[in-house]
Amino acid sequence: EISICWLRRDIRLEDNAALHAALKSGYPVLPLFIFDKAILDPLPKADRRVVFIHRRIQDVKQQLENLGSSMLVKYGLPQDSFQEVLSECDVKGVYCNHDYEPYAKERDTKISALLHAQGIPFLTYKDQVIFEKAEVIKADGTPYTVFTPYAKQWKIKLNDFYVKAYPTEKYFGMFFKTDAFAMPSLQEMGFENMDITFPGVDFSGKLASYELRRDYPADDATSYMGLHLRFGTISIREAARTALTNLAEKWLSELIWRDFYMMILYHFPQVRNHAFKPAYDRIQWRNNEQEFEAWCQGRTGYPIVDAGMQQLNQTGFMHNRVRMVVASFLTKHLLIDWRWGEAYFAEKLLDYELASNVGGWQWACGSGNDAAPFFRVFNPELQAKKFDPKNVYIYKWAPQYKQEKHDPPIVDHAFARDRMLRVYKAALNDS
Ligand code: FAD
Repeated sequence: EISICWLRRDIRLEDNAALHAALKSGYPVLPLFIFDKAILDPLPKADRRVVFIHRRIQDVKQQLENLGSSMLVKYGLPQDSFQEVLSECDVKGVYCNHDYEPYAKERDTKISALLHAQGIPFLTYKDQVIFEKAEVIKADGTPYTVFTPYAKQWKIKLNDFYVKAYPTEKYFGMFFKTDAFAMPSLQEMGFENMDITFPGVDFSGKLASYELRRDYPADDATSYMGLHLRFGTISIREAARTALTNLAEKWLSELIWRDFYMMILYHFPQVRNHAFKPAYDRIQWRNNEQEFEAWCQGRTGYPIVDAGMQQLNQTGFMHNRVRMVVASFLTKHLLIDWRWGEAYFAEKLLDYELASNVGGWQWACGSGNDAAPFFRVFNPELQAKKFDPKNVYIYKWAPQYKQEKHDPPIVDHAFARDRMLRVYKAALNDS
């Protein structure tokens, strides 16, 4: 007789809501992780995120083995993996943390039904955000769709209770005692191992200069916590506590953006494929494939855009300021559908998060919540002058710009701006 704690995007034993509940269930707890074929099979063979998750699972499994327990690691479809687990163990309950993405919600509904059919409770908890679903809503009971009032309400509601850690360590004696289990290798799942160093989880040293330097891509002044927050290798409560104790208000506000976009995706799952402001779905995108390819490969002739795309392609990361510039460039200068850019980022970003990526892209093209007004078009040259005045970032990632001769701009800024205004106005006036 055991309880299962199903880890998904919360791959840690410390300060984990579902694990805490499982450990208090009275039954010995066996953690489970499923490498989901439905997610993994379409990915390229060399995928940094899969390597990250695999390493992290190995580490947590080892941590459990040091406690005389282990982790059950499956590779398959979640339904099939659960059928196997149920045939192997006498499961008294399955515990996991909420996931707000459309695919995950559907998956969890199926698993919940499968378990309930056998009389096994499926118990779920809030863990990956500070406030979820309808916890921060307007006085009339509807969700916020604009960030500033949402953030204000978020801060009013915040108190120690919401950032308190779940003290799982107290119950570590409750893990199921067993010899170590085997786990599938990357190769067995069709992936290549890659020699990568991932950012560490200690970011507190970054907070003092964050507000002042966060917009300068050459400065390396941001926390790189996106990846860890995505896979739950750091707890959001710990991240928020660190921000609060360091009085890092600006950094805390970025975490609020994260909660905001998760809340938006939860209430408006259609934003994944549709403009938040429906009129924007009428924009006649040019969708020129050669130009899209030039953007992907960092060959637009605009140094800041090309440097950003090179940083993304080579490392899986891009600085936030530059994400805004390249996204604006793709949608407004080239008039390419934001969904193409969103999909490219989804494939490449180490910190890819559906809610934030869709939010960021819709912000940049003007169709989203709290978006930049559509007529405000980033000038990539002025952005570079302001945020990379000595070309340090540009020369690092796009060294061809050190030479006098390089590719000419793919499109003239003033021309692109006029064209975009015409096309956007035609779509937005057509109601
Ligand atoms: P820091 O500046 O140190 O911020 C700390 C944390 O706050 C981040 O790790 C992240 O979890 C959160 N955060 C910061 N900015 C935002 C934001 N604007 N929206 C939501 N959360 C935020 N962020 C992602 O996590 N995943 C994405 O897929 C993603 N795609 C983006 C696409 C576009 C077009 C744009 C403009 C932004 C996108 N962002 C995304 C937001 C932001 O660029 C990244 O979170 C940030 O650059 C990650 O670096 P960091 O961890 O060093 O961030």
